[in-house]
Amino acid sequence: MAKQAQTAITPTRNEDYPEWYQQVVKAADLAENSPVRGCMVIKPWGYAIWENIQQDLDRRFKETGHKNAYFPLFIPMSFLQKEADHVEGFAKECAVVTHSRLEADEDGKLQPAGPLEEPLIVRPTSETIIGELFSKWVQSYRDLPLLINQWANVVRWEMRTRLFLRTAEFLWQEGHTVHATAEEAMAETRQMLEVYADFAENFMAMPVITGEKTEAERFPGADATFAIEAMMQDRKALQAGTSHFLGQNFAKSSNIKYLSAEGKEEFAWTTSWGVSTRLVGGLIMTHSDDDGLVLPPRIAPSHIVIIPVTPKEATRQQVLDYCHELKQQLIAQNYMGAPVRVEFDDRDIRGGEKSWGWIKKGIPLRVEVGPRDMEAGNVFVGRRDRAPKDKQSIPRDQFVAGVADLLDEMQAGLLAKAKAFRKAHTREITNEADFIEFFTPKGNEIHGGFASMGFCCDAELEEKIAKQYKVTVRCIPNATVDEVVPCVFTGKPGKRVIFAKSY
Ligand code: AMP
Repeated sequence: MAKQAQTAITPTRNEDYPEWYQQVVKAADLAENSPVRGCMVIKPWGYAIWENIQQDLDRRFKETGHKNAYFPLFIPMSFLQKEADHVEGFAKECAVVTHSRLEADEDGKLQPAGPLEEPLIVRPTSETIIGELFSKWVQSYRDLPLLINQWANVVRWEMRTRLFLRTAEFLWQEGHTVHATAEEAMAETRQMLEVYADFAENFMAMPVITGEKTEAERFPGADATFAIEAMMQDRKALQAGTSHFLGQNFAKSSNIKYLSAEGKEEFAWTTSWGVSTRLVGGLIMTHSDDDGLVLPPRIAPSHIVIIPVTPKEATRQQVLDYCHELKQQLIAQNYMGAPVRVEFDDRDIRGGEKSWGWIKKGIPLRVEVGPRDMEAGNVFVGRRDRAPKDKQSIPRDQFVAGVADLLDEMQAGLLAKAKAFRKAHTREITNEADFIEFFTPKGNEIHGGFASMGFCCDAELEEKIAKQYKVTVRCIPNATVDEVVPCVFTGKPGKRVIFAKSY
């Protein structure tokens, strides 16, 4: 039997993908389950990734004219009730606050007391509470457009939870905007979808397909929902962000009206759009390998770790000094308009263990420096996008001068690799037999992918397919929205859609 290659993560992706994912999260020390069911603890390395996501998105939101604000965590139950589809969509996932304090009973046991007159819902999303405020802020056409974003936590009482991908409490941003016309609101909806797509591709190196959702996957209360969809390495789709055209539904239920230039009172048009900590899950499943997390440089909390190797006491201080100097030189380099981010790891643990720790954390570059490297004026560099043993000795000055270009090359390489993976697992499907074959597992192997095909978009048929094959329409891609293609199931003229298994 051939000797199996050793990997830092057990099981490998091919052996057990869901378990591999949990083990990568653990090995990189990104997050862990908490004592509260479905709620995770985000640890420093994971939170730093989220902070980088926030920072880059926040800049993009501001560049497109949005301002940040903050609204209450609680929503009065009556507010949620105002939009019928909205409440129906979210009722099953609401955390409800019914009491205002605790009191000890006769046995000294704490009991909820002081029932609230009206229950409060912990926000699952904030359209209804923000709408209430917007109805006061918007009076005339001069107040429009109103372009607001909130960074917040929300709670959706999900039953099947997985770290980052689906949690009961999650961190996100929610954009909420008000416009005078349907055209402007639709332009905003599409603009923010493009902001998400550009961010995913250029910051996370995660290629996405932009497109509209079918009715089955529409946000409760929206007239149209658009999404970015990414392919994970198990070939399932991840809905990584959504942008909703809410029509006048929420304007009517929250009474958001404005006086037009002609002096007529009109209902406004609204949008909302959001991405969450799910993006971190998408990042992990797009790039990581059987040795752990792989981070594209732009999103990495740190770009480089310097690991001094000090086998002899006599040269120990010299090596440390050399490494400190190297750190200063690297920090002075500019990458994406900011200093290169460098870790210095002089912990007193075995060198191998230290290196593997950083490999599992996905740091883009590992730089080892021992007495011999120092004497030659070199550094010993390992790249996370190459095999762990594939390390190179490089003159120190050359490494420092080229580090920004090297990081860029790695970023571009990861995007290209992810795009090639998606392409390799996207299949043009033209008949039902091929559809079934594509999505039928062969043993335990990872199978399927994106099926690009014609579909008549009949809601009942879509539900039937979802039940039968556990496959859903991920989106009607924007890029091919005008194509008319015969439906694979009915032969009727249909739209080109992407079917896939999904998270
Ligand atoms: P929505 O408001 O339903 O359009 O969701 C906005 C964003 O939050 C989307 O990008 C979803 O993928 C993400 N999201 C929805 N539910 C969860 C959850 N339980 N955990 C993490 N992210 C979520």
